[in-house]
Amino acid sequence: MSGLRLDIDLDKIGANARHLVDRAAQRGVSITGVTKVLLGEPRLACTLVAAGVTGIGDSRLENIERMRRADVDAPMFLIRSPMPSQIDRVVESNSTSFNTDRDVLAALAASARASGRVHDVVVMVELGDLREGVMPEELQDTVRHVLALPTLRLRGVGTNLACRSGIEPGDENMAELSGLVDSVEETFGIGIDIVSGGNSANLDWLGGTGNVGRVNDLRLGEAIVLGRNPLTRDPIAGLHTDAVTLVAEVIESKRKPTRPRGHSGQSAFGVVADPMGTGG
Ligand SMILES: *Cc1c(COP(=O)(O)O)cnc(C)c1O
Repeated sequence: MSGLRLDIDLDKIGANARHLVDRAAQRGVSITGVTKVLLGEPRLACTLVAAGVTGIGDSRLENIERMRRADVDAPMFLIRSPMPSQIDRVVESNSTSFNTDRDVLAALAASARASGRVHDVVVMVELGDLREGVMPEELQDTVRHVLALPTLRLRGVGTNLACRSGIEPGDENMAELSGLVDSVEETFGIGIDIVSGGNSANLDWLGGTGNVGRVNDLRLGEAIVLGRNPLTRDPIAGLHTDAVTLVAEVIESKRKPTRPRGHSGQSAFGVVADPMGTGG
């Protein structure tokens, strides 16, 4: 037994979550606690629920199923598009899924019909990060598609920035999201319940903006667990940054020259080591 492990302090994680829940509540925003970083560990989920998050989000259906089996008592959100191979299980998991694709939506509706259920969905819209979401000009047609499927219920609209391309959430893209929600409500004469504005990278915007607009929920993982802003990796004031500790045996500690010696090609990691030894 090498003893290599992570020590996870749930008290610190709970304190972080409570701090962020309170801060967001002052702006009328709820928090969905994201558990994928710890594989949907039920003790993490229960800690977040006790701290006041209104829902649990995870990107892996297996993690959601694990939390359901452990009787975690919270609304669950699959915060990515269901895989076609997992449609029936997604419907059965009684979670709200985030969606970006019409064929997947149709398959969810068919599965829900076959099992006598209604499946809740959030439609994601692409606002510049080029990861998930329908293009803004396709949002209305996607909503029309959902509303035409009686076994689907449209719960919300969301977006996700600062992921693939590191695009920062700010007043401009968040106002665009609010405007899209308003226009969907107007076109279809419906109310959109959840407006999910983003992830931990939205916290600077949330703290500084004069107007959160329609955004009423954020999905937070890294800020809660690591206490850091993912756009800069800087610590977030008021949060613990040491809730997770890697514990390992130290097998060697020696003084060696600062620079390597000899002619250098690629290292084991595919990188050419600094050949001039300039430290740059
Ligand atoms: C992982 C994830 C989050 C949480 O992101 P953090 O930066 O850890 O807060 C939010 N939304 C989606 C869609 C995600 O996949």
